[in-house]
Amino acid sequence: MKIYHPQTPLEAVMLRKENAASAVYLAGGTDDLRLGGAAEGKDLIDINTLGMEKIELRGEKLCIGARVTLQELAECELVPEFIREAALFCTSPARRNAATVGGNLALRRDDSYLAAALTAAEAVLIRMTPHGENEKKIGDYLHGSCKALLMTVVIDKDRTGWVKRFGNTAGSHAAVIAAQSGNVYALSVHGSGLAYGDRPEIADSLTYTDDITGSADYKKYLAQTAFTLRRPTDGTVEM
Ligand SMILES: Cc1cc2nc3c(=O)[nH]c(=O)nc-3n(C[C@H](O)[C@H](O)[C@H](O)COP(=O)(O)OP(=O)(O)OC[C@H]3O[C@@H](n4cnc5c(N)ncnc54)[C@H](O)[C@@H]3O)c2cc1C
Repeated sequence: MKIYHPQTPLEAVMLRKENAASAVYLAGGTDDLRLGGAAEGKDLIDINTLGMEKIELRGEKLCIGARVTLQELAECELVPEFIREAALFCTSPARRNAATVGGNLALRRDDSYLAAALTAAEAVLIRMTPHGENEKKIGDYLHGSCKALLMTVVIDKDRTGWVKRFGNTAGSHAAVIAAQSGNVYALSVHGSGLAYGDRPEIADSLTYTDDITGSADYKKYLAQTAFTLRRPTDGTVEM
């Protein structure tokens, strides 16, 4: 196994492009360095000296570096409450201290800790591509397969919303994660992927499957009722 140490984000992206089938970026390494993981046997492009580790306000926007860890995200008071809550869906403190925001989104998991909350928050991703820096809406990124380097996640600083996770235990894979912010609804459903839109009926757009997290009917029920039993930001439940 080879480990590359690029000096700039552009260099990292070019290395990834040249070695598309055989190399992945190394951020926190919680997935890359896992035995039996998707990256086993692959070369690593270490992005840990490229900055992207701050959370900062720029006017009305909050900019979250892709290398910010889930623990840092959960602890930062600048970050909207429901996004901090989503970071804590990763219940292992050891993993939270290593796992990064960029790594979490790039894996495009259907039980992603952050995908639903950041999609509901209408996050915009600043990425480095072989053609330079550009922006992409998070929903388009999560439904795509591009290998660009995520650099910054941008959200409105005063964004409010809620996120709710359903799983057999706090530590097992989530069956459903639902989030709402403003008039954006987002759902991550295990075995089905991510759905989002401006109506709670997005649950009906997914195809549900039986798997270890629960039956198709169970997950469909959760996805449909998560938005019906709305949970406003004051914590009360509306029927
Ligand atoms: C036991 C266990 C349980 C887990 N459970 C969950 C779970 O329930 N939900 C969940 O979401 N995740 C889960 N994970 C996966 C993982 O820990 C997290 O998703 C984590 O946030 C990945 O971040 P990382 O920095 O460690 O990524 P790394 O392992 O460093 O990288 C993972 C992938 O992301 C890509 N990547 C990393 N940084 C960037 C970037 N800046 N731009 C573009 N691509 C990038 C890499 O190319 C690589 O393919 C679990 C992992 C383990 C070991």
